[in-house]
Amino acid sequence: MNKYDVGIIGGGILGTTISYWLSTVSNLKTCVIEKENSVAQHASGRNTGVIHSPFYLDPQKKKTIAKAAMISHDLWKEFSIPRNIPWSECGTLEVALDESQHKTLEKYLKWGEQNGIPEGALKLMDSSAVSKKEPNIQCVSGIYCNQDVSTDYGMMTGELYSYSKNHNVTFLFDHKMTGIKNTNDSMELQFSNNPSIECKFVINCAGGHSLEIAKMLGLANDYSSLHFRGEYWIAEKKYENLVNTNVYSVAKFTNFPFLDPHWIKRANGTAEIGPNAVPVATPETYSGYVGNISDVVSKLGEILSGGSKKLLVNPEFLSLISKEWKSSLSKNAMIDRVKQFIPKVNPDFFVKRGTSGIRTPIISKKGEFVSEILELEGDNSFHILNYNSPGATGAPAYSALIVKKLQEKGFLNLQKTRESFWNFDKVIEQITL
Ligand SMILES: Cc1cc2nc3c(=O)[nH]c(=O)nc-3n(C[C@H](O)[C@H](O)[C@H](O)COP(=O)(O)OP(=O)(O)OC[C@H]3O[C@@H](n4cnc5c(N)ncnc54)[C@H](O)[C@@H]3O)c2cc1C
Repeated sequence: MNKYDVGIIGGGILGTTISYWLSTVSNLKTCVIEKENSVAQHASGRNTGVIHSPFYLDPQKKKTIAKAAMISHDLWKEFSIPRNIPWSECGTLEVALDESQHKTLEKYLKWGEQNGIPEGALKLMDSSAVSKKEPNIQCVSGIYCNQDVSTDYGMMTGELYSYSKNHNVTFLFDHKMTGIKNTNDSMELQFSNNPSIECKFVINCAGGHSLEIAKMLGLANDYSSLHFRGEYWIAEKKYENLVNTNVYSVAKFTNFPFLDPHWIKRANGTAEIGPNAVPVATPETYSGYVGNISDVVSKLGEILSGGSKKLLVNPEFLSLISKEWKSSLSKNAMIDRVKQFIPKVNPDFFVKRGTSGIRTPIISKKGEFVSEILELEGDNSFHILNYNSPGATGAPAYSALIVKKLQEKGFLNLQKTRESFWNFDKVIEQITL
């Protein structure tokens, strides 16, 4: 049986970034276990591609991911520009459509400051200032962040993979882990079509499957998850400059922010609208349409299990399903939502689908969506669940933090072994401040 010191389950941006850090600050024999034939085949290669500045993240409730996003902006910049990874500083405008949403933007301005966004990078604008900047936008007010970037996280993960591989990390592609056993001082990992391996320590970064893997070890039994497919539509070339920045609207339902579609400027200059949120059965259900609202409700009933059935009796969730959700499901309905702030958009401008991606929020025993990243510790294992947006943005700083935490807990032995393009100690100093 092949033996490793550390086995990382999942070759998305999180698992790959952790493997990179480990390869520079330890001599541990590390492998990344990935069921697909290359990295970033799921959420990490199928997202909106925005490097988010955390003005919209509550500095108390979402402290870790807000800090990680803030620190990682510059790390990604240093990494991407010399390597010709797309880096388009197109900025993000978040718009308010009524007075109460304007109040949210005022709060965002404060959160932005508290999260460390530099003065001058974030500006609250009234409706006429917004129209001057973007004549095709209609709103009550908007907050503009000029340091948001459009990029390609799939390319970033691919590049990090090359470094990790050159630093002797083994990538076990086409290895779907189907079982995991704790055998006193190590873990035995089993696969559907490959021999088992043994790892002294396992880090679970399996994205939409991380909950299921944690449960294999008797952890996270109080949690369940849902999978939502986010679909995008690409604007025809002649309409792609209708607006020249990313445009988000203040979430109508703060607990369900993934329901409001955006206007996105991709790093290659194209424009898309999306994503919506279609409930699906697995983290890989990229096709198949849940047609109408009663199908959606019955699909949710099927998907929800155990404690999360409570979600269906949560009044906000029920109101959402009955009134709002249907308006995010179809292309026309999604475009109607964007029309509220870009009145010129029309379904005919969007004839081609973009690449869809699947989010997997974790639901607590009380039937509520968990707001922060969920970290769970087992014997010889550590599990990262609910690693949702802006997870791709925050990956370099957050993964350094995980490596440091595992050292402090006595699970990993660290010592600097290689020069790195990112400074581990500096990142740790910033994120633990
Ligand atoms: C629609 C959408 C839009 C988003 N937009 C943004 C954005 O603009 N900016 C941003 O910062 N973030 C965004 N995000 C969030 C971001 O993409 C995720 O936080 C991030 O990609 C998660 O990375 P990951 O490595 O944890 O998961 P993943 O990329 O899903 O990787 C997990 C990997 O584990 C593998 N795996 C799972 N189970 C097994 C198993 N049993 N055996 C072997 N391998 C297994 C999978 O194949 C997969 O490759 C978005 C996400 C979505 C879905």
